[in-house]
Amino acid sequence: MELTEAQFHRYARHLILDEVGEEGQARLLAARVLVVGAGGLGSPLLLYLAAAGVGTLGVIDDDRVDLTNLQRQIAHATARIGMDKVASARQAVAAINPEIRVETHPIRLDAANVAGLVARYDLVADGSDNFATRYLLTDACCAAGKPLVAAALAPFDGQLSTFKPYLGAGHPCYRCLFREAPPPDLVPRCETAGILGAVAGVVGTLQAVEVLKELLGIGESLSGTLLMYDALGASFHRVKLPKDADCPTCGAGAPR
Ligand SMILES: [Zn+2]
Repeated sequence: MELTEAQFHRYARHLILDEVGEEGQARLLAARVLVVGAGGLGSPLLLYLAAAGVGTLGVIDDDRVDLTNLQRQIAHATARIGMDKVASARQAVAAINPEIRVETHPIRLDAANVAGLVARYDLVADGSDNFATRYLLTDACCAAGKPLVAAALAPFDGQLSTFKPYLGAGHPCYRCLFREAPPPDLVPRCETAGILGAVAGVVGTLQAVEVLKELLGIGESLSGTLLMYDALGASFHRVKLPKDADCPTCGAGAPR
């Protein structure tokens, strides 16, 4: 793919990097990424991936923009309260980079639609806030052999990893960590627990960096490692994630 003159200017600070260059930029422009959730994580994900020139962004969210979202969900705007989040996200992306194709999915991810959606994209970025979605994406991405860059938020903390269990040893999936979802009443969501808004921005931005690294094939993948951010301690922490040989999703006995 030949870059246009406008693209040479827009992506100039990528093009001078040996790790990106024209070939890497062309790869980003050809890439298709599904962003699950257009909320606190999805907002910085969508904005940075659009700015970086990821050519096609799918966005799935069945919610509408609410005034209480705006403290952290920076893809949305006061003037768009009441609008579908996917439509609002499309406008935010277009304002930054009108050449990005946005495929909006104003639906809830479920067992019936997840495989079809995942099949249409090269990589999935999970910015959802619930375990049901996380497990659906874990199983579907493993089965389809697609990288899953997933993050989760707590009021002053975030966690991030990349899952590529189809690569075998050393590459666990989310279910290797947490076999079953905890009971819903043990899992506070942003709506009930609160969150320092900028924490979502840090973690969603880290997630965008990892998505770009996976698309470009540069640096060290987070597959097999959980990166944890503690905002109050101003610290990052990494832990190795073991692969569970008996994992029902990616273990030896898992259905293929
Ligand atoms: Zn697994």
